[in-house]
Amino acid sequence: MAENLVEVNNLKKHFTIGDGLVLKAVDGVSFTIQKGETLGLVGESGCGKSTLGRTLIRIYDRNDGEVLFKGKNVHTLSRKEGRQFNRDVQMIFQDPQASLNPRMIVGEIIAEGLDIHSLYQQNRAERVAELLELVGLRPEHAKRFPHEFSGGQRQRIGIARALAVDPEFIIADEPISALDVSIQAQIVNLLEDLQKEKGLTYLFIAHDLSMVKHISNRIGVMYLGKIVELAESIELYDKPLHPYTQALLSAIPIPDPMVKKERIVLRGELPSPANLPSGCRFQTRCPHATEQCRAVEPEWKEAQPGHWVACHLY
Ligand code: SF4
Repeated sequence: MAENLVEVNNLKKHFTIGDGLVLKAVDGVSFTIQKGETLGLVGESGCGKSTLGRTLIRIYDRNDGEVLFKGKNVHTLSRKEGRQFNRDVQMIFQDPQASLNPRMIVGEIIAEGLDIHSLYQQNRAERVAELLELVGLRPEHAKRFPHEFSGGQRQRIGIARALAVDPEFIIADEPISALDVSIQAQIVNLLEDLQKEKGLTYLFIAHDLSMVKHISNRIGVMYLGKIVELAESIELYDKPLHPYTQALLSAIPIPDPMVKKERIVLRGELPSPANLPSGCRFQTRCPHATEQCRAVEPEWKEAQPGHWVACHLY
C-alpha cells in the first residue's frame, strides 16, 4: 500500500471577524495525500481552499484537528523539526507578479531559501543557474528583475524558488489561474515533468475542474469550508455523485459540436462562511434539497470504494 505523506484529520480554521461573527473558512476537513500523488482541490472562490493550503503549510495555525506530515503533527513540531518542515514543504502562489519581490533580481529571489537553510553555499550561483534551466529559463535571467518577464516566465521563477531547497511536497495555490490559457498547459506540463523527475507530491488548488483534470490522481471538491466529494480523477469526471460536483462539471464546455450537454445552473450566490445554512451547506442551491437536507448535515461516507461524498442521496 502506498505511503501517506500528508494526513489531515478534521482540520478547522476559523477567523473571528468582529461583532461576534466567526468565519468558518475550513470547517472539519479530512483527507490523505500519498507520496508521489497529486491531489487536486477545487471550489469556488471563498470556499476555503486557499486557507486550507495555508493552514497545511503553517502560515495559519489551526483551531482544531491535525495535519500530519510524515506522521508528525506539523503544528506541534520542535524548532529543529520546524526548520526541516519549512524545507520539505513549499508553496507556489497564484499571482507570480505579487509573490516575487520587485526590488530583487531573480537570482537573489531564487537563492533566498538556499541562504535561509545554508544550502549550496559553495556553489550558489551554479545552483541558481541549474534551477533556472530546470524550469525552462536561461542562466543569464538570474540578473534580471521580475518585471522584465512575462506572466508565464514569472510563474517559472516562482517554481524555481520553490524547488531550490529540494522539497518533497508542494502546495500549488491556483498556479495557473492568473495566466493566459495558452500558457496554462505549459506550466501544468512543467509541473508534471518535475514531479516525475524529482518524485514530488502536489496539492494542486484550482477554482475550476477543467484545470485539475490532467494533473490530478484524485480530486477533492470543496464547498463552504468542507470537502463534499473526493474520488479518483477519472471516476469523479465520469460518475460525479454530489449535486455540486455535477453542476461544476456541467459548466465545462466540451470541444465537440456533436455532443450536447445540459448545463446545471446553480441558483443563488455562495452563502457566507460566517453565516452557514442549517443542515447541508449546499441546500440553498441544490436542485434536490429536501426537508432532511435543511435539517441534518450529511455524513462524510465512502459511497463506493475510494469514492467519498457528503450527501443524503447516498
Ligand atoms: Fe443536495 Fe441534500 Fe445532497 Fe445536500 S444533502 S447535496 S441538499 S441532496
